[in-house]
Amino acid sequence: MAKNAELVSVPADVLAKYEAVIGLEVHVQLLTSTKIFCGCSTRFGDPPNTNVCPVCLGLPGTLPVLNKRAVEMAMRASLALNCTVQEHSRFARKNYFYPDLPKGYQISQYELPLATEGWIETELSGARKRIGITRLHLEEDAAKNLHEGFSESATKGYVDYNRCGTPLAEIVSEPDMRTPEEAYAYLTTLRQILLYTRVSDCNMEEGSLRCDANVSVRLKGAQEFGTKVEVKNLNSFRFLQKAIEYEIERQVGIVESGGRIPQETRLWNQAESYTVAMRSKEKAHDYRYFPEPDLLPVHVSAAWREEVRGALPELPAAKRARFVEQYGVTPDDAKVLTGTATSSVFYEDVVKAGAQPKTAANWMQTELLRHLKESNKEIEESPVKPASFAELIIMVGNGQVTGTVGKKVFATMFETGRAAAEIVAAEGLGAKVADDAIEAAAREVIAKNPDNVAKYKSGNEGVFKFFVGQVMKATRGQANPQAVNDILKKLLS
Ligand SMILES: [Zn+2]
Repeated sequence: MAKNAELVSVPADVLAKYEAVIGLEVHVQLLTSTKIFCGCSTRFGDPPNTNVCPVCLGLPGTLPVLNKRAVEMAMRASLALNCTVQEHSRFARKNYFYPDLPKGYQISQYELPLATEGWIETELSGARKRIGITRLHLEEDAAKNLHEGFSESATKGYVDYNRCGTPLAEIVSEPDMRTPEEAYAYLTTLRQILLYTRVSDCNMEEGSLRCDANVSVRLKGAQEFGTKVEVKNLNSFRFLQKAIEYEIERQVGIVESGGRIPQETRLWNQAESYTVAMRSKEKAHDYRYFPEPDLLPVHVSAAWREEVRGALPELPAAKRARFVEQYGVTPDDAKVLTGTATSSVFYEDVVKAGAQPKTAANWMQTELLRHLKESNKEIEESPVKPASFAELIIMVGNGQVTGTVGKKVFATMFETGRAAAEIVAAEGLGAKVADDAIEAAAREVIAKNPDNVAKYKSGNEGVFKFFVGQVMKATRGQANPQAVNDILKKLLS
């Protein structure tokens, strides 16, 4: 049987009759230095089973002690996601047996989660949509099963308990998304907020952000939800989108052929791009939740909550709006500039150093981000620092170098870390076309293009750019653009 046998290819017009209902469950590791119930380090990448103690190994007789910092980080996330932080919440035992869970239960929160009823706003092709967040609760991570890389991997299982007890926030959305693209936009927005608040590094490759999707389909206009299927193992943004696309088509295919969708958990197989049934929900575990007797309920006073709220940084949406307002950049520019907290700080430092805000926005997007991307560097590692970047932008603005030359200077700065003025002086790159040479070139261009002169004089201002371009060409890009502008204006008036 072909592995993809479950996927009945559905014609686009049939697919178009349906809509999907999607909710996401996201687990993020919180950036505490120690685990949630013991003092072991949470550092990633240490040798297996070196960051463990009797508590996180679940040895009999040990007692958990709640890490206050983990609660505080979960509160930060909750408040940034517009949730209500509950004054009283409680840990519960989720009982199940698995080798990565040495106690035989996971300490989680169940009927009284830390925070509820939040929302975030996503933007997709200019349209904004609010996606509800049902709850955010705290829990401990399980250990990691290692299936490969050991001499006896073929016959034995290995477990690394370093991860066991790392604090997690589980963020459950409302089933508010209708397309794979919306799910992608939600996860992107959520991740950006979590990064801005420094709650998690959200590194999907290292497993510090993990996502499961609940997907069902129904005929457009129907009020009732279809049977939902949980899709696990979505280890990247791209997989998330592909897996949901696959799942929608699979479910529509079943419904169209008169079948019934079983409620189940499916696993996304990236190598072969399909989901496969993992377990049926009808036979799901009963986790026998009950309040954790070894921990006191969590009490968050109004004063503590407000202290955490007061320490929140400016969030991405507010920063985007402020950039448009304060610097006069376009919403699209603002989106790029505030992509990460670091890039937004970099941009503001360039402006503070005296660069014209809109010009700085352009230079950052065209030159800086392009060079960073090409050299596979993060903005933190940029060889060109904000002050010297501003110096170059100012030199171009003053006409000390032309835009074209400025770009070359930037490339050298990026390569060598040298200052703009130094490069311009050493390589003789200063704008060096005398005004009378510019004027001569301008006169010649005007003489050769009487039609365009007529157009300009009859009010077609757009044609002015043509003249500037021609003069710059005639002076091989070496003229000061401001001087070219001024001289042309004078001659054409
Ligand atoms: Zn420990």
